[in-house]
Order: sequence, then C-alpha cells, then structure tokens
Amino acid sequence: MTKVQNLTILGATGTIGVNTLDVVARHPERFKVVALTASSQLEKLVTQCQQHQPRYAVVLEESAAVRLRSLLLDAGLKTEVLFGIEALEFVSAMPEVDTVMAAIVGAAGLRPAMAAAHAGKRILLANKETLVMAGSLFMQAVAAGGAELLPIDSEHNAIFQSLPREFAGDLAACGVRRILLTASGGPFRTLPLADLPHVTPDQACAHPNWVMGKKISVDSATMMNKGLEVIEAHWLFNATPQQIEVVIHPQSVIHSMVDYLDGSVIAQLGNPDMRTPIAYALGFPERIDSGVSALELFGRGLTFEAPDYTRFPCLKLAFDALAQGGMLPAVLNAANEVAVAAFLAGQIGYGDIAPNIEYALARAITGEPGSLEDLVEADAQARRDAAMHIQKRAA
Ligand code: NDP
Ligand code: MG
Repeated sequence: MTKVQNLTILGATGTIGVNTLDVVARHPERFKVVALTASSQLEKLVTQCQQHQPRYAVVLEESAAVRLRSLLLDAGLKTEVLFGIEALEFVSAMPEVDTVMAAIVGAAGLRPAMAAAHAGKRILLANKETLVMAGSLFMQAVAAGGAELLPIDSEHNAIFQSLPREFAGDLAACGVRRILLTASGGPFRTLPLADLPHVTPDQACAHPNWVMGKKISVDSATMMNKGLEVIEAHWLFNATPQQIEVVIHPQSVIHSMVDYLDGSVIAQLGNPDMRTPIAYALGFPERIDSGVSALELFGRGLTFEAPDYTRFPCLKLAFDALAQGGMLPAVLNAANEVAVAAFLAGQIGYGDIAPNIEYALARAITGEPGSLEDLVEADAQARRDAAMHIQKRAA
C-alpha cells in the first residue's frame, strides 16, 4: 500500500492551489492536507478547511488571522490559525510534512520555498519566481537539504517528463541538443502592432487557452511569462540560454519538447489543464487520475512560429538578464511585478511595461548575490526604480 503523503499547500486559494486540492480530493487514500495558506480570500480558505480538515491555516497578516479564527469558529472547525512569513516557513518545514506545493504568486513565495528546500521536502514548484530570483541559492538549498524538486509549470513538467529518468543535471550527457520551450503567444499574438499600446487589462487577462491568476495572465500576454520560464528552465535543467529555444505554438497542446542529438524530439502533449502536471508531481513516480479528459487529436492542427522581439520585448529582456546573470533576473522579476500591478491598476499602459523594466535593469547593481539578503535588497531597489519610473510617467 502507498504511504499517505502529508501536504502543505502554499497559496491554496489561488488557481494552482484550487487545482491541487481538486486532484487531492480524488485520492483521499493517498494524501492528507496538513496546512493550507492564503492571503486575502478568507471565505474560500474556510471552505477548503471544511473539506480538507488541515491542522493549520496560515495567512500573512495578523488582522486576517483574527478574522479567519472567528470564521473557522463559526464553522465549528478546530483548524489552528497562524500568520506571518515565519508561519509560512514553519508549515513548509515541519517534520510531519512530506510534500510542499509552492504556489504562492510572486516574490512572496521565495522564503517558504527556501524553508522547504532546507528541510529536505518533496517540493512541487509552481512559484517560478523562486528560481528566477534566487535560482543559484535555491538549487544549492535543495541539494544541501536533500530536497526533491518536481516542476509544476506545465512546460517544465513536460520537459521533466521528456528527459530520461536518470537525468542528473547534465543535458549533454543525456544526448540532449536543445530544450524547445513552447508558448501560446497569448491574446495579442496577431493583434496589429499599432493597437498594442491601447489594450486593456481585461483584454490582457483573457488568455485564449489557460485560466490563470491575473499577474501570470498579463505575463503571458507580454511573454514575460516565457522569459521567466527560460530562466526557470536554466536552473531546473542546467541549460544555457543557447540550449533553450522558445517556440510559439498557439494551440497549447504540446507543452514542451526535448530535442536529442540523434534527431529524436520527445514531447509531452495534453489538454491545457494544470491538473495534469499537478497530478504527475503529486503521484510521482506513479501516474494517478487528475480528472483531465483524454486529448482529442482528430480535427486539430498543430502550428509553430518563431517569437518576434518587436511584439514581445519582455522576452528579449529576460534572455538578456539571464545571459548577464547575477542579480539581474531578480531585478527583472521585481520590476515586472511592479509594472504589471500598475498596468492592472490602470496607472500605466500596456506599452509602458517593458520600458519600465528596462529602466530598473539599467539601474541595477550587477554581480553575484552572496546571500538571500543581497537579492532582497536588489529586489527592493528594483521596485523603487520601477515605481519612480511610473511616477515620472504620471507627472
Ligand atoms: P493566484 O494569483 O491565482 O494565487 C496566488 C496564491 O498566493 C493565492 O492563494 C493568494 O492568496 C496567495 N498570495 C498572494 N500574495 C501572497 C503573499 N504576499 N503572501 C502569501 N500568499 C500570497 O496565482 P496562480 O495560482 O495562478 O499562480 C501561483 C504560482 O504558480 C505563480 O508563481 C505562477 O507563476 C505559477 N504558475 C501558475 C500557473 C497557472 O496556470 N495558474 C502555471 C504555471 C505556474 P489569496 O488568493 O487568498 O489572496
Ligand atoms: Mg508555464
């Protein structure tokens, strides 16, 4: 009989969190939820606590914790409420937890993911920002802590599935020529370039294939999401920028591919539903039901295009930041978060996002980060620079 896996789900109320709980609920004999975390959606968290009966529910702010306690009490639940970043770290590292789903959005996900790495957990990594910001330190922590890393991002999960099981960080040794990272091209792939500066947040969030959180939806529209994923692939698979090729594949049926020396290209296909990579990682190395329907191949065409940097300048910024290395990927990520938030809030236009990030990159401190504190400082500086650029525009 399979041992029950005890889970902490960071970011339980988000898109990935909800999909994770959907898969978990299909396998009560395999998984036990120990901790759920959220930030603002307290009612949703209470409903999740009712269904999954975790020992802990964690939120960021004390005021949210006070409200959550009373909501849980009203619902007759004994779930213990904790709050703050230390509490997120605590539930990511506690001895009774086997597996941590790291699905907080943004830089806020870094510290809990690091805690899980140091504690040697099986980490299901959705929070790509952890690798973008602190790839080197995080991979060191995974190795030192004896943690196991399974990628949730659909492309990286596809690459993981397309690599030999014995892959241990040396692509060449496995006969790999290139990683082909697929991208849908988002909602603006064919929009006339002249219309791009005028698109609205609602248009940017209307992704043609995937239902996702707002931030990542805007990142898909600008293709910064793919840029962040290039950096993510670099760290996960020890791939150089030259070994990673971005391929626009608008149907999102192929989730990525690995091109081998002998001319073979191995791909993973499926419906665009995050429950597939989530179930793969939850069940690994076994395959478990995810609730995703079988892929219908008849009547479909699969097409491929090269990305255009004029339309998608953020993708180029990300490749450049990776090539330069050091703190630049962290700066790229932080400035992008600020720019996307400002775009969603109606403070800047879509066309201002890339220049905003460029402004912060031009002012960034270069050099390798010696510690997490260096990265936190570079992140904070980038946020100040990006905010200053937004203010200048508004003035
Ligand atoms: P959502 O915005 O839907 O959810 C984010 C989760 O994080 C929510 O539970 C939210 O709580 C919580 N949260 C937000 N801010 C904080 C904070 N400061 N501290 C603690 N918790 C916080 O995001 P997604 O689920 O779409 O994405 C999660 C991660 O997975 C991201 O890193 C994204 O890039 C990655 N990813 C997502 C994919 C997708 O298909 N959605 C695909 C591949 C990767 P609350 O809602 O209660 O405020
Ligand atoms: Mg992805």
